[in-house]
Amino acid sequence: MTATHPGLPETGRAAADLLADLAALTATDLPTRGERVSAYVYDTGRPAVRQAAHEAYLAMLEVNGLDPTAFPSVVALERQVIGATATRLGGSDATPGIFTSGGTESIMLAVKAARDARPDIAEPEIVIPITAHAAFHKAGNYLRVRVIAVPVDPTTFKADPEAMAAACTDATVLVVASAPSYAHGVIDPVERIAADAAARGIPCHVDACVGGYLLPWLAEAGADVPPFDLSVAGVTSLTADLHKYGYAPKGASVVLFRDEAMRRSAYFVCASWPGYPVVNSTVQSSKGAGPLAGAWATMQALGAEGYRELGRSTLSATRRLIAGVEAIDGLIVLGKPETALIALGADPASPLDPWALADESRSRGFFLQPQLSAAGLPASLHLTLTGASEQGIDEIVAVLRASADAVRPLGPGTPPADLIALIQELDFSTLDDAGFAALLPMAGIELGGESSGRMAGVNRLLDALPVEGRELLVNRFLSALYSPYLGH
Ligand SMILES: *Cc1c(COP(=O)(O)O)cnc(C)c1O
Repeated sequence: MTATHPGLPETGRAAADLLADLAALTATDLPTRGERVSAYVYDTGRPAVRQAAHEAYLAMLEVNGLDPTAFPSVVALERQVIGATATRLGGSDATPGIFTSGGTESIMLAVKAARDARPDIAEPEIVIPITAHAAFHKAGNYLRVRVIAVPVDPTTFKADPEAMAAACTDATVLVVASAPSYAHGVIDPVERIAADAAARGIPCHVDACVGGYLLPWLAEAGADVPPFDLSVAGVTSLTADLHKYGYAPKGASVVLFRDEAMRRSAYFVCASWPGYPVVNSTVQSSKGAGPLAGAWATMQALGAEGYRELGRSTLSATRRLIAGVEAIDGLIVLGKPETALIALGADPASPLDPWALADESRSRGFFLQPQLSAAGLPASLHLTLTGASEQGIDEIVAVLRASADAVRPLGPGTPPADLIALIQELDFSTLDDAGFAALLPMAGIELGGESSGRMAGVNRLLDALPVEGRELLVNRFLSALYSPYLGH
């Protein structure tokens, strides 16, 4: 079913008509409210806060952040947002920072700053734990910086400071720690990693994209939170996403720098073309001020007391979920989550198929995010709990129990050997998007219709393939998805 009209209409259409199209299109999306999707979306459960953000976003929709001298409102709001963030994360209202479109862009700028601060290094490297977010690999790819990914402790899933120090060379421009890691929700030993880096004169970045607006409040609520922010000696930059536990509309993140020279290395300038002199703090040049205003309004509407309460209920939701999962036969929580991000794994003693479990759970109304096994760490299903999760915990636990009961008799699940053999024989260089799309139903993959949301076959296949095979397939899939050849 296609709700929208193809192409540009000859005559303009009325807004009500357009909104009806959007409503029809989003009807098949995962729901963004109601705590049935515990990843991607962050909900305060407070309609007044959401409304403040929406209205502020629209009020600044047409302001262009390209030129902060033309639109000084952008500077004023950004300074407030950065200052309010930095003062909670070991800095002050004088801490230099940049407001960006998201965690990936913040990380990209932190890596660029570190790279450009060392023009003497011809082939720069960054050292990260293998559990660091993929955004560091993306930064390495975009910025031509080599990424050295170091194994972590296989039981705690935390970075190994000795191994990280040993991986540093004269070409290392940045060492990274996560607070916490996205996949397992554990906090790397930031103090050790930063001290070792500082001893060699290497900057250290803390990726608190998901933790930056959560950990301070969890600590106040009584959780055991080790030092992780700019108050730690040797930490030179930090990223924190407002569009995660800042509860802001998407397109909002912050990168903080210990010193102002580092922020200047993140900037891009160009005065060698015949147009206006370009001086950009971010990857984007022209950019709407809506996300900035939405983030600012969310912070102002919640206030410290709002975040504190959300932190308290997030912590209690997490504890209840972990206790609930521990009582389900066959399911375990990987590591000891220190935040509200939880990786559910199969109990090696009585293994069940996580991918089948995810499908069962989704058929019962709860989306769990699949996380493939990698670098010797097991596959898992991800849950991010928020300040609005608490009232739904009993229901999630009941769904997990029923789903585990349903898949337990099927056993651990076996890799699809035939399909893997078929893929290994295919010549992808001669296969176009149409050809690839035609293969998907044969592999049991159908978008829309009855089997929609049944992803176990795909996940089982991806999990069984080596990294290069996975990356090739998902690249081809994305291109086919946006092509006209896949049923929409
Ligand atoms: C979400 C996240 C990122 C990337 O953020 P985006 O906003 O999706 O670009 C990076 N690091 C961690 C730890 C994250 O949780």
